[in-house]
Amino acid sequence: MILITGGAGYIGSHCVIEFLKNNLDVVVFDNFSKGHSKIIDKIKSKYDINFFKGDLRNKNDIDLIFRKYDIEAVVHFAGFSEVSASTVQPKMFYENNVLGTLNLLNSMVENKVLNIIFSSSAAVYGEAKYVPMDENHQLMPKNPYGKTKLIIENILDDYEIAYNLKSVKLRYFNVIGANYKENIGEWHDIETHLVPNILKSSLIDDYVFNIFGDDYETKDGTCIRDYVDVQDLVHAHYLAYKYLIKSNKSDIFNLGSGKEYSVKDVYNCVCKVLGYKIPFKINARRKGDPAILIADSSKARKVLNWSNETSLIESISNAYEWEKILKTF
Ligand code: UDP
Repeated sequence: MILITGGAGYIGSHCVIEFLKNNLDVVVFDNFSKGHSKIIDKIKSKYDINFFKGDLRNKNDIDLIFRKYDIEAVVHFAGFSEVSASTVQPKMFYENNVLGTLNLLNSMVENKVLNIIFSSSAAVYGEAKYVPMDENHQLMPKNPYGKTKLIIENILDDYEIAYNLKSVKLRYFNVIGANYKENIGEWHDIETHLVPNILKSSLIDDYVFNIFGDDYETKDGTCIRDYVDVQDLVHAHYLAYKYLIKSNKSDIFNLGSGKEYSVKDVYNCVCKVLGYKIPFKINARRKGDPAILIADSSKARKVLNWSNETSLIESISNAYEWEKILKTF
């Protein structure tokens, strides 16, 4: 049995489907603070999963899971992820992400569950000193969100030394796309991400998409990012799980496509999917946005045998199909 924390959220729910499709039994743990019960209902209507509503900040909630189920490994997504919110509400982030994870890890160790796949982030790197960025790039997170991820990575290293807890840390770049055929996709109550925000223009009257800054030192003045498809990304989690069980070795992997797209490239690609040009406004730079972030994911390709085949246009088409479904929820 695999425990997936945060399995009602965007990436977590895609991971639930990925593991189920690989014939693994799954128990999902989520407090629905960011995830959605409707997503769990959709998954349950088709698959056999165990679901437990609980909060990692209450250690008893998670202790119950380890007492009830024979857990082989944990895939840990539960946590807050909005960068700007983390700068104004760091308390919430440290409590939810760090304290919540500590409760989880302590419960794991007490119950002798010693394998974890951790959802980390490229936010641990901070400003790019060079691109593409490999796993040895300096770690200097620029915001509390990135700091919580780095603190947890460090805790995992210490828990390995002291308690033999093995971990695979996966550092994501910009995750996009959806598995709309399974009725799941990106669903944040306050949406800040690029692709869903551009798509909103086509689905919500009077919504105007803003480009945050066109005066960066890039080919067209807008920020450059590495967009990785969510279905490719969760496949890497399955490969990481197999790697961990087989090798019993801790490791760290970047997960990105290695391809660079500017905000304007993404905008143009969305227009291509829609078949028409949508209006946009140029706004000021968003605070804390680095000009360019590109992943070197060659280690994941080599060691995990991971490949990411989904093109930008395919990911965006899937996200569009999902946005239409989401409107009917
Ligand atoms: N962005 C934008 N308009 C939006 C949302 C995002 O111009 O409505 C830009 C943002 O400034 C960044 C890029 O798109 O350069 C990716 O932002 P996103 O929030 O999707 O991911 P991040 O890189 O912040 O993790």
